[in-house]
Amino acid sequence: MREQLQIDRIRCDGHGLCAELLPEVVALDDWGYPIIKAGTIAPALVEHARQAVDACPVLALKLARLAER
Ligand code: SF4
Repeated sequence: MREQLQIDRIRCDGHGLCAELLPEVVALDDWGYPIIKAGTIAPALVEHARQAVDACPVLALKLARLAER
């Protein structure tokens, strides 16, 4: 299963917690808002990605399952 981290930019208020929990996938811009690396999450990082989703205080992150090609 391929999974991709997606962000609701309207909800996100830039706490930056996701970048602390998942630095391999999330960087922060100059204003502290997340920049998510393009592509799907490496299998070894999926559990960390789930923790970042659960930790977001405003529920702005989700893991989307992409159809296999
Ligand atoms: S943890 Fe949530 S609110 Fe904070 S920067 Fe990440 S997506 Fe935005």
